[in-house]
Amino acid sequence: MPVIYVHDKPFQPYISQEEISTRVQEIAHTIEKDYRGKIPLFIAVLNGSFMFASDLFKALNNPAEICFIKLASYKGTRSSGHLITSIGLDVDLIGRDVIVLEDIVDTGKTMTGFLPQLLHQQPASLKVCTLLYKQEATRYPVSIDYRGFIIPDKFVVGYGLDYDGLGRNLSAIYQLAE
Ligand code: 5GP
Repeated sequence: MPVIYVHDKPFQPYISQEEISTRVQEIAHTIEKDYRGKIPLFIAVLNGSFMFASDLFKALNNPAEICFIKLASYKGTRSSGHLITSIGLDVDLIGRDVIVLEDIVDTGKTMTGFLPQLLHQQPASLKVCTLLYKQEATRYPVSIDYRGFIIPDKFVVGYGLDYDGLGRNLSAIYQLAE
């Protein structure tokens, strides 16, 4: 398959639509088994996870709920560093079985900042499901419960992930060509 351009940068095919679809079905089946008799609440982190969340949610045969949030990072005062705040989380999490859906975990910074805020709301359980995991880029260890693919520390686009706004509509995942 040919190299494509997103803005000025070349990207090569990396994970095909078929491979993604197969893996998403596998994750859905695992979640179905793990949550039998429960009604999990998925919290999908926008923008990047919208395609993954949609396909995974469709592949589930058990009852489940989903909501969509955005995470914003801002510089806190003095020693607090970067703070993560969520926009659109309007569901009561007390006693719920929550699964956070991410497109990609890179350094782990975003999840490390966000998960304690969810735990603060006393869910019955809290798990993380990410389509892509740059394991070797981890600087803030996050416990990942479900993951699609472990990928190297190279920039990727497609299937919801963008490069400067573009590339989200690609149905496969492409990797930056050096
Ligand atoms: P972290 O906080 O784990 O370092 O980074 C998480 C965020 O960085 C992701 O939600 C995503 O927005 C962005 N990101 C990290 N790596 C990539 C990549 O290879 N491609 C794209 N499009 N975004 C990435």
